Amino acid sequence: MRLRRQHERIIFRAISTNVAISRTQLAELTGLSGQSVGRVARTLLGSGLVEETEIARSKGPGASPIGLRVRPSGAFSLGFGLERDYLSGVALDLGGNIRWQMSRHLAEGETAENTLRLLEQDIRSLLRAPEWSARRDRLCGVGVAAPGPLDVTTGTIVGPPNFPSWEHVDVAKELGRAFDLPVLIDNAATAAAIGIAWRLPHGHRPYLYCYWGIGIGGGLVIGDDVYRGTTGNAIEIGHIVVNPGGRTCECGNVGCLETEASVRALLRDAAPYGRFRTLTEMMTAARTTPEVAALVTSAAEKMAAALVSVLNVVDVDEVVLGGEHLDEVEEVFVPIIRDHIEHRAFRRRIAPTAVSVSDIGEIANAMGAAAMVFHTLLPDGLPVRDRPEAPFG
Ligand SMILES: [Zn+2]
Repeated sequence: MRLRRQHERIIFRAISTNVAISRTQLAELTGLSGQSVGRVARTLLGSGLVEETEIARSKGPGASPIGLRVRPSGAFSLGFGLERDYLSGVALDLGGNIRWQMSRHLAEGETAENTLRLLEQDIRSLLRAPEWSARRDRLCGVGVAAPGPLDVTTGTIVGPPNFPSWEHVDVAKELGRAFDLPVLIDNAATAAAIGIAWRLPHGHRPYLYCYWGIGIGGGLVIGDDVYRGTTGNAIEIGHIVVNPGGRTCECGNVGCLETEASVRALLRDAAPYGRFRTLTEMMTAARTTPEVAALVTSAAEKMAAALVSVLNVVDVDEVVLGGEHLDEVEEVFVPIIRDHIEHRAFRRRIAPTAVSVSDIGEIANAMGAAAMVFHTLLPDGLPVRDRPEAPFG
C-alpha cells in the first residue's frame, strides 16, 4: 500500500493534518482544482484510507456538510523497539490507536540471531491470529528501532557500542524475506522521538528527546519532522564527552556520557558497594548507602551537563526525557536536569526550556517504529493524529 501520485499525497496530507475537511476546503488549501480534488478523493475513498464524515456546515451557499477524514482502520503498521535488554512491539492503526502490544525481556548478552528469531516468532503468531490475518492486506510494513550506528538505507545494524553480536546484521533483509513486507529500520531514539510526536497535538513546539537506559540517545523534532542528519545518526547524546579523562567508550571516544552515566555505567561504578544485578536493586541500596546515592546524583549531573550543551546547539523550548528505566531514577534526575537547564542554558534569560517526562516510556521506540512505517509508505503522512478513538474495523 503506497500513495504514488503526487496529488494523492498532497490531498492525503491535507486530510491527515485536519480532523475533517471538505472538498472545497481541500481545493482552497492545496491550490488544486475542484475537479482534481474530487478525482483524488474518489481514489482515496476507494483505497479505504479515508472516509466521509459529517462536518459543521461552513458558510456560503452550496457549502457541503460532508467532509473527509482519515479512516483509522484503513491501514496498519507494526513497530518494534529493540533495546539491549528489552524488546517491545505495537501494532498501530492509521489513527495512531494501539491495536496490539507486547514486550519481552532479553537475557544479558542475547545473540542477534536469537533475538531476531524471537521477533520473527512474535510477528508470525500475531499474523496468524484471525483478527490480523483478515487485515493482512492493510498491513503497510514493519518498522524496527534499534541502537545506532545504523545504515538506514540498507536496513543494517552496524555494530552499536555495548551491543555485542549485532555487528552488520541486515534486519530489513532477514525480516523482509520472512514476511514479504517492507521492513524499515531507524535509530531507536529517533524513532522514540517520532513516537512521542504522534502523541502530541499537531503543530507542537520543537523539542529535544533524550532516551536514558542501558544506552543513551536522542532525537530532535521540529514541526512534524525529526532531524536525522546525513547518515541517520544525529543527536547521539550518549556520545558527547562529559569526562575527557574518563574511560574509553566502545564508540572509540573517551569519557562519553553513555560510559559515564548510563544504567550500565551506574551498575559498574556501584559494584564496590554490593552485588547489584539490576538498577532496581541498586536504587534500593541508594536509599541507605550514601556512596551509591552519590553515584546516582553524579550521573544526573553529567546528563544535565550534556543536555545543556545540546540545548545550546539546538535551542528548543522543551526537553522530553524517556526510556523504560527512567522512572527508577526520575526523582533524582529530573530536578537536577531542570536546575541545570534553568541556570546554565544560554537561552535562559530569553525563554525558559521546559523539561518533561514522556508518558509512553517503554513503548516509545516501538510506537515510533510503527509510525515511521506510515511516514515512509504514505509520504508526508506523519501527522495523522488528533483522532477520536475508533473501533477496530
Ligand atoms: Zn562513545
